[in-house]
Amino acid sequence: MQEQDKYQEFIGRAAEFIPHKRIITDYLRTLAYGTDASFYRLLPKVIVQVANEAEMIRLMGLASEMTLPITFRASGTSLSGQSITDSILLSLTPDWKDYEILEDGKKIRMQSGVLGGDANRYLEPMQRQLAPMPASIDAATVGGIAINNAAGMNSMDTYGVMDSARFVFLDGTVLDTGSEESRSAFRRSHATMISEIESLSQLLRSNVELSKRILRKYEVKNTTGYGLRSLLEWDDPIDMIARLMIGSEGTLGFISEITHNTIRKYPLKASAFLVFPDIRTASIAVTRFKLNKTPVSAAEMIDYFALKAVQHMDGVPSYIAGVPEGATAILVQAEADEQSVLESNIATILTEIEDLELVVAASFTDKPEEYQAYWNIRKGIFPAVGATRPKGTTALIEDVAFPIETLADALVDLQQLMQKHGYDDGVIYGHALDGNLHFIFSQGFGSPEEVDRYERFIDEVCDVVVDKYDGSLKAEHGTGRNMAPFVRKEWGEEAYAVMLEIKRIFDPHGILNPDVMITRDPKLHISNLKPMAAVSDIVDQCIECGFCERMCPSRNLTLSPRQRIIGKRELALLDGENQQTFADEYDYMAIDTCAGCGLCSTVCPVGINTGDLVRQLRHDRHASREGMSEWIANHFGTVTTAAKAAFGMADISHGILGSKAMGAVTRTARKLSGKKIGYWSPEMPTAAPKLITTDRNVTAQDSSDNKLKVVYLPSCASRTMGPARGADEQTSLVDKTEALLKKAGFEIIYPAGLKEQCCGMPFKSKGMFNQADAKAAETVQMLLEASNNGEIPVYCDTSPCTMQLKDHLDPRIKLFEPVDFIHTYMMDKLEFTPVDEKVALHITCSARKMGLDKKVVEVMRACSTDVVIPDQITCCGFAGDKGFTTPELNESALSSLAYQVEGCNSGYSTSRTCEIGLSHHSGIDYQSIVYLVDQCTRQKAKPSA
Ligand SMILES: Cc1cc2nc3c(=O)[nH]c(=O)nc-3n(C[C@H](O)[C@H](O)[C@H](O)COP(=O)(O)OP(=O)(O)OC[C@H]3O[C@@H](n4cnc5c(N)ncnc54)[C@H](O)[C@@H]3O)c2cc1C
Ligand code: SF4
Ligand code: SF4
Repeated sequence: MQEQDKYQEFIGRAAEFIPHKRIITDYLRTLAYGTDASFYRLLPKVIVQVANEAEMIRLMGLASEMTLPITFRASGTSLSGQSITDSILLSLTPDWKDYEILEDGKKIRMQSGVLGGDANRYLEPMQRQLAPMPASIDAATVGGIAINNAAGMNSMDTYGVMDSARFVFLDGTVLDTGSEESRSAFRRSHATMISEIESLSQLLRSNVELSKRILRKYEVKNTTGYGLRSLLEWDDPIDMIARLMIGSEGTLGFISEITHNTIRKYPLKASAFLVFPDIRTASIAVTRFKLNKTPVSAAEMIDYFALKAVQHMDGVPSYIAGVPEGATAILVQAEADEQSVLESNIATILTEIEDLELVVAASFTDKPEEYQAYWNIRKGIFPAVGATRPKGTTALIEDVAFPIETLADALVDLQQLMQKHGYDDGVIYGHALDGNLHFIFSQGFGSPEEVDRYERFIDEVCDVVVDKYDGSLKAEHGTGRNMAPFVRKEWGEEAYAVMLEIKRIFDPHGILNPDVMITRDPKLHISNLKPMAAVSDIVDQCIECGFCERMCPSRNLTLSPRQRIIGKRELALLDGENQQTFADEYDYMAIDTCAGCGLCSTVCPVGINTGDLVRQLRHDRHASREGMSEWIANHFGTVTTAAKAAFGMADISHGILGSKAMGAVTRTARKLSGKKIGYWSPEMPTAAPKLITTDRNVTAQDSSDNKLKVVYLPSCASRTMGPARGADEQTSLVDKTEALLKKAGFEIIYPAGLKEQCCGMPFKSKGMFNQADAKAAETVQMLLEASNNGEIPVYCDTSPCTMQLKDHLDPRIKLFEPVDFIHTYMMDKLEFTPVDEKVALHITCSARKMGLDKKVVEVMRACSTDVVIPDQITCCGFAGDKGFTTPELNESALSSLAYQVEGCNSGYSTSRTCEIGLSHHSGIDYQSIVYLVDQCTRQKAKPSA
């Protein structure tokens, strides 16, 4: 059978048990999902999104039967090219998120798709955390971390802390190493495999020289090849198998679940940048820490060029900018339960280095916000350096380790090697306490000469690391495609033969992630290099790390931010028919389904807001409709009146037809109009009761002399949209807000000319930048006048509008969104009696971006004894009007909402449009937080005279 036919057959047979929409073959998405954070690229023939273990078993069985290669993919943050394929990619859906905390947090059982950062969040209340700490922990899955044996700033990796796991092997067998029953059954069903593993163990144990060498090599961190130590350190073959799986990069089987032994979080910590004059002195300091067991919990090296790359980041001590050339810092951390122990640990650290020259006096901080900033800086080195690379090049990161006693010499050699090959921008940094250093340099692959330079450099690195220092070519990032050609060189013939045998035992036909870890291709590390076209200043710094993906509301519907950028880069490389087809797919998946929320920028290590790219693309697309945009901006009052009338008409029809018939009619109309008619749902608002005018200023109930004033800016949404028909609460937001402000003793001022104004957001989100800026500027001017040049605070009842205005604000204006205002001005004026019922909270993306998460939660907790904040839901995807025009975005973003808010009677937010979608997809009424605050507060009794 032709290869193409085999894949077609696979797809056909997979479709018998996998829904069609989870089988992806289009160019754009195979490219987008097929790309990881490495500098390699392959285009899968098909991607199957796998939702559970049963599906995985069947797919693995099918691929095995058809001898078609498969590669697993979790978050795709791998750096060595191990989660890409040109065959079948089995990608995890968001469903693998189940977890259970055991033994008061001493253990945690997790499905493999749980993100490391989420696991730590779940463990936080018990003051526990996962031991592995890769800088990618917030984005990477626990399955991906285990299977790469990623480690990071803590010396402990999954090999050392795994309690048990559930593995799926190619023949469909599941082994749960935490269950005696499963272990026994596996021994019976896999007697041959067990005996082959035992034989390998015997072989190694009987070869004294080799076994000594293996154990000695693992005194240094190592992820090159399979974890041979498991055959020496464990006695039960099941335990050997379990440990062999750790670090096997999807080449031996699949991990569906893992239980970790967690580690303590010490309550007291202190950190310092110890800055030495050169890398040799810094290495000597770390070597002493390691050999003398100095009480440092982490010691991370940051060389001169790395210091230069991060010197402008928030929280970097000012002296870093002035350090002399060649200076190298060690960021150290001490931890303890008690202050006296912490101080004693610090003293021991300082004594250890008292005879070494420091270019800046050592100064520890025990302030959490300061030391946390230090470690965030450390985590951000790779992206920060990557961001400074020349356009069109890739930031390459290597990951080697040396025996600690050779560290000083080895690093000097490494520096010289980079200079010799012209990598003058190269930086060295990393987990020095483990002898594990990364070096980053920018590399273009546009010409054979550049590829050749890289090849010569890597050859020499391998010579230095292996031949001169007997170090590790990979210490935590995995062998991948990057070091697969060098595994034999590092380990030698005998050990490599054992690795080949391991691969044969688990995967006799070599279909699990072929070429990764074990390859016959000596040039694999310079094959399938990723092109990096420059496309736009907004995104050219992107290193495709994938950190942004978890925040994106469209990630499960179409594309994530990283994938939008990957697609844009590909578009620049295509021409002719291919380009047109790709562009058509890109139009919907990248441009139409982006909510523009900008949440991607909040976690992007280089601050990229992919929403800005999308708005720019919308701008280019709408350029021909500039006149229409102008007209709308100039007749905004007319447009909002028309919108209000439309809501009124729709409501009348709803009243006459009822929800069911109205739904059917509007669905048909939407279909016939080619989706030009917006989506209707029963939660659609009625028209707002009355249009506000300037003569509606309200006198505060409180007639004391202490009257406070506030300028109230109702958004255009609040001015046009009333409550939904049938909602329990029928008071409009404007009326409710007035009531609350009055109760707190405020006199309300409505700005003159309000009817014609808006924050500009509706224009900005469509890329109509001129009109957006103009409307925002007019509104700011209006607020300036109403607030008496900023003397009186301004209250805007909608978070997204507040955020948009803040971008244009006159610094004199004090502008607040609802929760910020309540938190700042009302908590002391009102008496809160929390309701004793479960309520749901949606923190809008704009509130998150304005850093108000904590305040929102505090206000809600003052109002209710039981506040539910759904996990994994970031932006709701309604995005102003996307809920009407692209309702599938809202549906996808909120797909888990109803389940998560079960048992809640009501939900709260700070954006009227978001509340439409939230109500629709949860089955409970969502409304502004203002309603709840009004319900559970009363005026504080006046102190008696
Ligand atoms: C900016 C940045 C910083 C990083 N920092 C560090 C660091 O400090 N330390 C460190 O060690 N690493 C670091 N990494 C790399 C790190 O190895 C990965 O982030 C992580 O281990 C991969 O997890 P993932 O969920 O993204 O897995 P993926 O990349 O999707 O997959 C990882 C590998 O495992 C396979 N796989 C995935 N899930 C499974 C499964 N359930 N069962 C079997 N096979 C599976 C894949 O085929 C692939 O071979 C960093 C990466 C980036 C981008
Ligand atoms: S946009 Fe930022 S977070 Fe996302 S992949 Fe690019 S660099 Fe990483
Ligand atoms: S702006 Fe929002 S929807 Fe758009 S790519 Fe970023 S996170 Fe995703």
